[in-house]
Amino acid sequence: MLQVLIAGGGIGGLTLALALSKHGIASRVFEARETPPREGAGIQLGPNATRILRRLGLDSALHSCAVVPECIVVNDGQSGHELTRLPLGSWIANRHGAPYWVVHRADLYDILWQEAASTTLIEIETGRTIESVDDTTNADLVTIEFTEGGTASGHVLVGADGLWSRTRQHVAPDAKLEFAGAAAARAVIPRADLPSRFAEPATGVWLAPSAHVVHYPIKGGDEIAIIAIATCDEPPAGWDSAVDTDVIARRFDKMPGELRTFLGSVTEWRQWALYRAEHLAPWSQNRTVLIGDAAHPILPFLAQGGAMAIEDGFELAAILAEAGVNNLRTEIDAFGRHRQKRVTKVQAASIQNGQAYHLDGLAALARNVALKTLPGSAFMRRYDWIYGYKS
Ligand SMILES: Cc1cc2nc3c(=O)[nH]c(=O)nc-3n(C[C@H](O)[C@H](O)[C@H](O)COP(=O)(O)OP(=O)(O)OC[C@H]3O[C@@H](n4cnc5c(N)ncnc54)[C@H](O)[C@@H]3O)c2cc1C
Repeated sequence: MLQVLIAGGGIGGLTLALALSKHGIASRVFEARETPPREGAGIQLGPNATRILRRLGLDSALHSCAVVPECIVVNDGQSGHELTRLPLGSWIANRHGAPYWVVHRADLYDILWQEAASTTLIEIETGRTIESVDDTTNADLVTIEFTEGGTASGHVLVGADGLWSRTRQHVAPDAKLEFAGAAAARAVIPRADLPSRFAEPATGVWLAPSAHVVHYPIKGGDEIAIIAIATCDEPPAGWDSAVDTDVIARRFDKMPGELRTFLGSVTEWRQWALYRAEHLAPWSQNRTVLIGDAAHPILPFLAQGGAMAIEDGFELAAILAEAGVNNLRTEIDAFGRHRQKRVTKVQAASIQNGQAYHLDGLAALARNVALKTLPGSAFMRRYDWIYGYKS
């Protein structure tokens, strides 16, 4: 019987464990934390991700806390004018056979975690931090050592331990994270009493030179998640650190007054520096394979990093089920090469989106004219290859 070890009980790791259980394969998930993470505000889940989450049986749990945004309202972050409405809601659900959801990140983690914890084939071991990996001493096994002490062995180790992956250091010791020149501040506020522009069931996006803001309803519409991204020369100190409301006010002081008032209503911000690790390949070595942010950090300008972790986990489960114990090394290598093609394309599209978001001067003017002229549905059809993808 195949013994699968998973480093990290985040979005990709838990998706993999749940997908493996559907193939009748047991897994052990080692998570450094004691409880599911609470931080990170909201997450947008396109049909390519929700299609998988539904196949894993999470439809009703997610449906009860998700909001279905009717559209993406794109605004000029200088004049405050609305530029276009890109259809989501029933348009995208009908087009791709799965919904576009926005949820609180803690709700997504809780739902994945509870489902995994109640599945007999999955063992979640908390407070277990991967310290080192050895997949050469014994050719048939991989052994991990934990910071807290103790070891565990299995046939394959999947590194789903996120951006700051320890497993990546084993698979690709030379890979370096590069600061991407921007910081993302996130917050959640109550929806009650907000002006309609910020309270409607839609994802709002405000585009300005070197900065943009995204907001959408979560918690069944009771709260609004905000992501405010601005370029900066140096990475802010710390990862997931508190940031002063004054700092945010200064960062977005050229934005329209109503947006500044909206941002000013936040009392507690946290921020993350954005990183990328380009050309990180291969994703596997011997009996260890990476998925999600451990394999491919994706800048959040297309809301697809979590979706790629979900696709990775779901597809790797099918490959492992097919490979069994014997062909593991060849199959995980092929998995990495196959997934790399898609993820590289998504990474590039995300970078391109970020550049378009932050244009200035005549280039911004041309972008705005194009957004105003092109029908929203035609614009969204350009992303069929992302949302219509079937794992
Ligand atoms: C500002 C921002 C906005 C974003 N918005 C979106 C969005 O709208 N939609 C979207 O799809 N994506 C979005 N993303 C990207 C998304 O959050 C990530 O791509 C996703 O969380 C990656 O999932 P993962 O499973 O690889 O890692 P994670 O979900 O980060 O999970 C990693 C897990 O590993 C654990 N861990 C770490 N180290 C160890 C260790 N040594 N031993 C054991 N456990 C360990 C961690 O505690 C964690 O639980 C956004 C990202 C940012 C920064």
